[in-house]
Amino acid sequence: DPVLRLSGIAKTYNPGRPNAVQVLRDADLEVARGEVVALVAPSGAGKSTLLHIAGLLDVADAGEVAIGGEVMGRKSDRRRTVVRRQMVGFVYQFHHLLPEFTALENVVLPQLANGASASEAEARARGLLDSVGLADRAAHRPAAMSGGEQQRVAFCRAMANTPQLLLADEPTGNLDPATSDRVFDALVRLVRDTGLSAVIATHNLDLAARMDRRVRLTEGRLVAF
Ligand code: ADP
Ligand code: ADP
Repeated sequence: DPVLRLSGIAKTYNPGRPNAVQVLRDADLEVARGEVVALVAPSGAGKSTLLHIAGLLDVADAGEVAIGGEVMGRKSDRRRTVVRRQMVGFVYQFHHLLPEFTALENVVLPQLANGASASEAEARARGLLDSVGLADRAAHRPAAMSGGEQQRVAFCRAMANTPQLLLADEPTGNLDPATSDRVFDALVRLVRDTGLSAVIATHNLDLAARMDRRVRLTEGRLVAF
């Protein structure tokens, strides 16, 4: 089974109202195990909506979402939450790290919430931070780190509970171009090292070119290019 399968996904905001917006019409996507797919679209095209539906944070009006072969459409909210926590990691344009906690703690806490022991959580968090070059930043709070460092911590947090699918929404969109380039490489390396599947939204075609496959979101559909 593919790690993610979207078929015929449709989504309209404010349906039946004068301000209705049909964002997705008939979006199909399959992501195989270990595959890294670039999702390219201009701002406002519906990338965030698509990623939220794929990650079970939002529900489509029509179509089917399957994660790891499990069709999620008619599953309970409780089951959707379990699958999301176990299978999906999210990264956003802004890091959303907890400001009062250190980098290490930000990567440890989701694991404790998921039932890991303190010692396994810490060992895994240190390994992840080390793999993105942040071993010496483990005890820093977010405010004491650069934008690129904060974002790399956010990648580690997304990986903390060993997801199978990473969904990233403009993960380096708020960084300057040179930093964005390096931080993006760190993300792709982390994904490849862990054998994870990923959908990474970006409007940067040079970054998209480094991924296995590219799809463009246009008029509510996904088209390979
Ligand atoms: P992108 O991530 O590509 O910028 P979004 O998925 O955030 O696009 O939004 C796609 C379109 O849907 C935009 O026109 C946006 O204004 C609209 N939209 C997004 N969320 C809502 C919402 N909750 N209610 C109404 N319209 C929304
Ligand atoms: P990155 O490429 O990871 O964003 P930078 O080149 O921006 O890193 O920053 C280099 C170093 O300067 C970082 O390792 C960080 O420790 C330090 N630094 C950058 N910005 C800040 C900041 N706002 N507060 C404290 N230290 C910072």
